Amino acid sequence: DNHGRVINFGAGPSALPLSVLEEAQKGLLNFSGTGIGIAEVSHRSKEFTAFVDQVEKNIRTLLDVPPTHRILLTQGGGTAQFSVVVLNLLARHRLLHPTATPEETTLDYVVTGSWSKKAAEEARRLTAGHATVRTVVDARVYSKDGQSFDNVPPHAEFRFSARPALVHYCENETVDGVEFAHDAQSPAAFPFDRLLETAGAGGGALVPLVADYSSSFLCRPIPRLADHAVIYAGAQKNLGPAGLAILIVREDCIVDVDAAARLGAPPVPLILSYKQLADHGSLYNTPSVFAIYVAGLVLERMKASGGLLYYEAVNKRKAQKLYAVIHEGEQKGLFRRKVQQGSESWMNVVFEVLGEGSENKFLEGAEQEGMKGLKGHRSVGGIRVSLYNAITEPEVDKLIAFMTHFMKESSS
Ligand code: PLP
Repeated sequence: DNHGRVINFGAGPSALPLSVLEEAQKGLLNFSGTGIGIAEVSHRSKEFTAFVDQVEKNIRTLLDVPPTHRILLTQGGGTAQFSVVVLNLLARHRLLHPTATPEETTLDYVVTGSWSKKAAEEARRLTAGHATVRTVVDARVYSKDGQSFDNVPPHAEFRFSARPALVHYCENETVDGVEFAHDAQSPAAFPFDRLLETAGAGGGALVPLVADYSSSFLCRPIPRLADHAVIYAGAQKNLGPAGLAILIVREDCIVDVDAAARLGAPPVPLILSYKQLADHGSLYNTPSVFAIYVAGLVLERMKASGGLLYYEAVNKRKAQKLYAVIHEGEQKGLFRRKVQQGSESWMNVVFEVLGEGSENKFLEGAEQEGMKGLKGHRSVGGIRVSLYNAITEPEVDKLIAFMTHFMKESSS
């Protein structure tokens, strides 16, 4: 009995495992034997603080996070965190380089899609007069039509600053379906070595590399995790309900923001300071208790299923078989893939259904078979299939069977 639930291919908030939701129902009434529901329990209770500790431990184990990095839980999502990271890393830069001019204080943005573009725009707002926001590379220049985000640009085109306050990229572009490749040998992998050679040349400080993992967190191991300064992710795709963000922050980025402000950095609200959060074990103020709880249940399930290598294998198979059927439709002139070969996302598969009225026919047909959430983002149109961890292989097979049938009907 699945309680009348459909298969939800939506991009976020997105599907959660049924077993987790059933467990969460129990927790809503009685959390951890306290006799108090999870939405009612004090975040300072020993049961909840123990739960938070376990959440952080599980993330550390699943992703193999080294002791150089802290794991922090905070409120909000990706939008909050691409703003917060600017304030904290500007403070760090000010402490390292107290006399740097606004021209010498550079923030480097790799722009491969809508979210990294938005992050760069927000950084420009927040740092006006204090720093210079640079575009390391804009993927639209290398696109098929000269204006879409459909690729990870060639490594030689990435132009990093010598001593940046931060370097930001978005690992998986949820709207556009563009993702950095996981395989280090791929031309679509992030150019870590090129970055470390350029940005590391400025005098020994660790490179402040920041990654938005909102829509690819915990779908597979994170390449070169230890080379990152900050990794952030909203929870509402692979991990749990909205309202919670996960941070993985290297120790040198946890700085005294007030000391930096005395040297001329913009003031940082304490609630947004990594140090404040870290000093209070992610419990400086009331956290998103329920979201943390559900995320914790998902993490336990992930551990029990065999960890990230298991999810990586399943997610790879899911994506490969879906791209294969899209390719088949492309040969027949029925579908068109949006993203260039090698840069395709495992998590958000974006394509078009060609022909007048065909896209609506596709969406309606899928809905009749109990599959929803397939409409592409309004800015790019088309179809978007989100294949987050909670989507099972048989569910993808069901979509593929529908697509195969759709192709047969359309070509006859
Ligand atoms: N970054 C990425 C990659 C996203 O997919 C999203 C949301 O879809 C965001 C940032 C913004 O997240 P939020 O809506 O949680 O602020």
